[in-house]
Amino acid sequence: MLDRLAPQAPDALLALIKLHRDDPRTDKIDLGVGVYRTGQGGTPVFGAIKAAERLLVETQDSKSYLGPEGDMGFVEALMPYVFGAGNPTMGGRIEGMQTPGGTGAVRLATALAKAAGTRRVHMGTPSWPNHAQILADLDLEVASFAHANADGTANLDAVLAAIRGAQEGDAVLLHGCCHNPTGIDYTPEQWNAIAAAFAESAALPIIDVAYQGLGHGMDEDAVGMRTVLAAVPEALIAYSCDKNFGLYRDRVGAFYVMAQDSGQLPAIMSNAYGLARANWSMPPDHGAAAVRLILRDPALTAMWLDELDTMRARMRQVREKLANAGTAGTVDLAPLGSQNGLFSVLPLSKDQIASLRADHGIYMAGSGRINVAGLTEGNIGKFIGALAEVTA
Ligand code: PMP
Repeated sequence: MLDRLAPQAPDALLALIKLHRDDPRTDKIDLGVGVYRTGQGGTPVFGAIKAAERLLVETQDSKSYLGPEGDMGFVEALMPYVFGAGNPTMGGRIEGMQTPGGTGAVRLATALAKAAGTRRVHMGTPSWPNHAQILADLDLEVASFAHANADGTANLDAVLAAIRGAQEGDAVLLHGCCHNPTGIDYTPEQWNAIAAAFAESAALPIIDVAYQGLGHGMDEDAVGMRTVLAAVPEALIAYSCDKNFGLYRDRVGAFYVMAQDSGQLPAIMSNAYGLARANWSMPPDHGAAAVRLILRDPALTAMWLDELDTMRARMRQVREKLANAGTAGTVDLAPLGSQNGLFSVLPLSKDQIASLRADHGIYMAGSGRINVAGLTEGNIGKFIGALAEVTA
């Protein structure tokens, strides 16, 4: 029976990682893989995480099972950062649970929406490729709209049309900040318009927050999501700590639901627990426990926020350098200065991307997505020069 399975294309980014690894050129540049890099090219463990892990080794007295909700101390300690210190539960209307990474949270949010009657999900494209894969796996219909304009700004009209045109049983999936792959976020004014459209729409908002703190700051990056939550009766939030705590492989995420009324939360969460049980039973503990220890200790919290600031400042610096270069051949780099997070998409043809790889040792996704954190003082000049050459 298993011979009925047709081979599937390997993940393009994983294939790219292997090609880069096997390239003997010493001045090769990896702009493919989606992790933060320091100016020295590494992705080190945060000092705050190391300290919390040491504390965990010393103090953890059991590894017996938690429930499908995972570490609720983690889930609750995170809420003031996500939803704001002033009213982190929206008057008791928000409850959450731990998930295996942001991926688990997106899976749970969309599966729960489906269980509640969602049949179609509106989504801006391009998007993180796994959004479409998860929705397809759940047999949810995808209605796409263009996320960005050609000038590197967000296409507000398209998202508003999607929200306004949504019918009962529709959800709209948005990126909270640091859009993957474009880096193009809605401005606070645009979020106001989006929130107002949601308030008049039947659509269920699902907001994916995978990069809080990597754009302009923890509070700044949450403005859009919080604006929507203040305007609507109910919403689902998928959250990842894998970038802003550098925990990638430890798989740390959370799923939150804002209900119309706090009395609805037990029934809603019981459905979420059931879905978690069927998907992964319970999430991995270690990384979430380390985040809990950080967030409950003011000194460790300060250390973490400082490390996050350093990360964000470096990405802003790289973006500024690119923007200041103006154009490289036919590529206008100016919009990259106002884009956010790890990623931006360059308007390059397949041939130009292939030539960057073959002739210059520069590796990027086939979509033209670059990870700006792959650029350093030492290689940014070469990158801009190569862009000019392949697009000349
Ligand atoms: N949502 C978006 C938009 C992402 O880009 C990613 C990861 N790159 C995720 C969710 C999932 O993150 P995680 O690694 O925590 O599963």
